[in-house]
Amino acid sequence: MGLNVPEDLARELALANRILYDHQIVDGLGHASVRHPDDPQLFLLSANRAPALVRPQDIVCYRLDGSALDPEAPRPYLERFIHSEIYRARPDVQAVVHSHSMSVIPFACAGQALRPLFHMAGFLGEGSAHFEIRDAGGDTDMLVSSPYLGQALARSLGQHSCVLMRGHGSTVVGTGLRQAIYRAIYAEANAKLQLSTQALGEPQYLSTREAQLSSDMNDGQIPRSWDLWVQRLGALDF
Ligand code: MN
Repeated sequence: MGLNVPEDLARELALANRILYDHQIVDGLGHASVRHPDDPQLFLLSANRAPALVRPQDIVCYRLDGSALDPEAPRPYLERFIHSEIYRARPDVQAVVHSHSMSVIPFACAGQALRPLFHMAGFLGEGSAHFEIRDAGGDTDMLVSSPYLGQALARSLGQHSCVLMRGHGSTVVGTGLRQAIYRAIYAEANAKLQLSTQALGEPQYLSTREAQLSSDMNDGQIPRSWDLWVQRLGALDF
């Protein structure tokens, strides 16, 4: 196990990566992280590896400047600053998922917020935030590959649970790893439903209060979904 990486959490994070792939939220790219339980200035994230292939031994402990604790650590993700700067800006956030899940992208490009269409997406509250990378960096390769761009993204996220990234994808945050995985899965589901409902007419979204109540209710149900998601993975190579 890597330097200062708790074994049980490394296993949980490896499972989280594979669940995201199993639900087609990530492909060869995208990543999930969790704040270190013993030190809020550290977080755990896989080294540069496809999510479906992440094993507990691939998990690396990083500081909030994006540097690995272990000088011998393998090559990191270019976009680790998405995670580091959100942890720096949001002490309440314990886990982050970044993906390019397909149904969310039209909303990011149209500058239209995701809004909670059904109870499973109550965490969207009054809607997702929007990140325009051009405002921070002009013409770029679209990747959040520096602390500066990570800070701009974290500012756009604000107190929201989800930020859409124009021309790129989205990032969701949670107060725990399982909750962040749940949110990534249901942000994508909500985007599909929002698109199909808009084709029929003006959607009736959950009210702010309905969103809050259903979000609180669903948080209690996440362990049930998690058990199923792990079961679906079948045999593991770790
Ligand atoms: Mn990306």
